[in-house]
Amino acid sequence: MFWDPTIMLLIPGLLLSLWASFKVRGTFANYARVPARSGLSGAEAAAALAARHGLRVGIEPSHGGTLSDHFDPTTNTLRLSPEVYEGRSLAALGVAAHEMGHALQKADGYAPLALRSGLVPFAGLGSNLAFGLLLAGMLLSMKPLLYAGIAFFSLAVLFSLVTLPVEFDASARAMRILAADGLIGREELPGVRSVLNAAAWTYVAAAVVAVLELLRLILIARGSEE
Ligand SMILES: [Zn+2]
Repeated sequence: MFWDPTIMLLIPGLLLSLWASFKVRGTFANYARVPARSGLSGAEAAAALAARHGLRVGIEPSHGGTLSDHFDPTTNTLRLSPEVYEGRSLAALGVAAHEMGHALQKADGYAPLALRSGLVPFAGLGSNLAFGLLLAGMLLSMKPLLYAGIAFFSLAVLFSLVTLPVEFDASARAMRILAADGLIGREELPGVRSVLNAAAWTYVAAAVVAVLELLRLILIARGSEE
């Protein structure tokens, strides 16, 4: 859409995204082949953790394919991909416990999760509106439109930044509850940690891309002033 030298700025972010995406798929596939000693499926482990921590959450299969696992805070539902829902591997247990980590965040009133949930509608609207405003601003050479576009895009950037502590904390909770509740053994922890760390890199990459994109838009807007 905006083809100019500042596009080079995006390349490191895109390379990081590509690497993170390969890494998470590869690591998940590796540990999906390692059976968990408990013999539990991801759904069973999630149910056990919910019971143990007194959480009333729905646990459903998701239909979005591999790595579509998520916690929906509006309905208090964990949606787990088939590999996680039915899988009895370290990867399945790690991802199921991570999503349960989000349910625990909600139960605890963890502030970054509430902030992220509050930003969802603005982040989506912000990035859509931003590109329309930026395009109009450039075509009409109207600086206020460019800056309004950048302001809206900043909401999407803020969302990707707030996502980082939310995701790191959910993984830290996952490791704690899996170990404390005896669902995985001490020797299984490094495998679960590898899966969760690989997943965390995808969020880091998304945040880096968003920040670089914002920087690029600011450079374009400033360049248009001369
Ligand atoms: Zn998560």
